[in-house]
Amino acid sequence: MKKIGLFGGTFDPIHNGHLHIARAFADELNLDMVVFLPAGDPYHKADVKHAAAHHRLAMAELAVADDPRFAVSDCDIIRKGATYTFDTVQIFHQQFPTARLWWLMGMDSLLQLHTWKKWQTLVRQIHIAVAARKGDNLNQAPAELHAWLGDALQNQSLKLLNAPLYDISSTSIREQIRQGHIPAESLPESVARYITDHKLYR
Ligand code: ATP
Repeated sequence: MKKIGLFGGTFDPIHNGHLHIARAFADELNLDMVVFLPAGDPYHKADVKHAAAHHRLAMAELAVADDPRFAVSDCDIIRKGATYTFDTVQIFHQQFPTARLWWLMGMDSLLQLHTWKKWQTLVRQIHIAVAARKGDNLNQAPAELHAWLGDALQNQSLKLLNAPLYDISSTSIREQIRQGHIPAESLPESVARYITDHKLYR
């Protein structure tokens, strides 16, 4: 059975933390591919603090170029209106009806899962892999998630990745750039160059 990993995010910008956890995701679960899914733009226009979807998509494409298992889809960008993971997953199910789908997220996202559209149906349709994130751990999970967490960890439809902590966030990268410093150690070189060339986040 083909195993496909899906990785949704704003990727504003995509950074080495994203790439490290996506590699661990592919390695530990032996995935055939990992599809990065940059989110569409919210209704308000992109401002200096944030980059428009076409820039975030372009940076994601540059960042995945080194790993043959990685791909980028604009599926959440071209869809009109608000996009939900639930709907994205239906699209991939139709496209790959016999594949096992895995969704990657950080621990901060897992702790919010109960707020996602149709989350209880969603978790029956996909398996979920979670990367550790500084400041967040499973003990903080809200009561709504407890019963599912217990079951999912036991039946292995939820997997906590072994990848180490990567203390990198897009928020801190945007803030550093705004103050005039591009944190090269946190970004693929091609992405750092793209940010400079397009004067993003200034
Ligand atoms: P922001 O700081 O703007 O909120 P972010 O760095 O969290 O951005 P997103 O694009 O929102 O990046 O993240 C997409 C997914 O990747 C989320 O599920 C998030 O938890 C996860 N993620 C991002 N960075 C890391 C990291 N350093 N370690 C583990 N998970 C991460």
